[in-house]
Amino acid sequence: MSAPFHSDDVARQLDYCSYCPKMCRHACPVSTASGRETWIPQAKMDRLNWLRRGQLPWTTENTDPLWACTGCRHCTSYCDHGNEPGLVLLAGRAAAVARGVGHPALEGYGDRFRARDERLVARAHEAFDADRFAEDGQVGFWPGCDAVDKGAADVAAALAVFDKVGLGHVRLVDAPQSCAGYPLLAAGYPDLFRWHAGKVAASLRRFKTVVINCSACLYTLRAQYPAEGVSLPTEILSLAELMAQASAQIPRPTTRKTVYYHDPCHHARYTQVIEPPRRVLEQVADVRELAWSKGDTECCGGAGLLPKTMPTTADAMARRRLAEVAAQGGGMVVTSCATCTFMLRRNAPAGVEVADLPTAVAELTGTPFMLPALADDEP
Ligand code: SF4
Ligand code: SF4
Repeated sequence: MSAPFHSDDVARQLDYCSYCPKMCRHACPVSTASGRETWIPQAKMDRLNWLRRGQLPWTTENTDPLWACTGCRHCTSYCDHGNEPGLVLLAGRAAAVARGVGHPALEGYGDRFRARDERLVARAHEAFDADRFAEDGQVGFWPGCDAVDKGAADVAAALAVFDKVGLGHVRLVDAPQSCAGYPLLAAGYPDLFRWHAGKVAASLRRFKTVVINCSACLYTLRAQYPAEGVSLPTEILSLAELMAQASAQIPRPTTRKTVYYHDPCHHARYTQVIEPPRRVLEQVADVRELAWSKGDTECCGGAGLLPKTMPTTADAMARRRLAEVAAQGGGMVVTSCATCTFMLRRNAPAGVEVADLPTAVAELTGTPFMLPALADDEP
């Protein structure tokens, strides 16, 4: 969970990183993909420490490194102190925004977030029949904002697979929100996040279980809501976990394809959703591991609002992730997060197909699903 910027814990982590011989520098996909030394974890934490101690003024230029992070937690995996640059830098962003120094690309982000959320609620109702929705129930499927925005076909595939494997009772969550609010935290708006989280919790608590296909918002719902004092007794599952519960009902194809699996970092290093998607995939294909996988997965560039603040670097991270597959002659890469799917898909080289988990299962089992007819509004 994120700590208040002025806490002793944040100060301790910043001091340790400032004097560290850069033990985790190899692990940061942002600095590796960009080639920028000022974006290695040690340098980002050192910069924030200078700002915290008042040795540098809070300006747009000085705070730039705080935004060069997806919160992927790979650095933490290599830190003997268990330091959390991905979370401390979020606290630093909030401190910057509080001083009127947000990232220029995120100006007015609170209003933009609210407008997008409203637009996506309407888009979900445009895409799917009314009888697919419910305001309460045993299991609600709340796909996540990027799923509705960029992956409505993947949501349709999930609904088709539900029908096929005995999960036809799962309804789409009918709520006035489409996002659990992780982007507000990433943008440095913790107060707006708390306000939004309270509203989401009021909508979701009418379900016994809610299933989400966004790895960052899975972590947000499970960890950041309680950390911010927002009570949500509903069980929160990832889509991969729900599908794994029904994996025995997924028909095994007679001919099996080999597929790669990309672990979303918020699954692999925050919520430990590592085995369930593999259990699903192994039912329909032979799973081949990427060189960096499971707890050592490499970020696709989609988190931390990097696609908005540093889009060139974010896309370079996704291309790095898929280069290994292209070098092996291409093939299908499956993941289980709408944001990862979107980032990898839009950067896939020739010969590499990227599929979200339900779409891969639908394709590999010959399960037909309707492509929602939607106006292609905002990118
Ligand atoms: S996170 Fe750990 S390993 Fe990385 S710079 Fe900080 S102290 Fe060093
Ligand atoms: S959390 Fe990930 S992106 Fe952020 S500094 Fe650490 S390794 Fe880099």
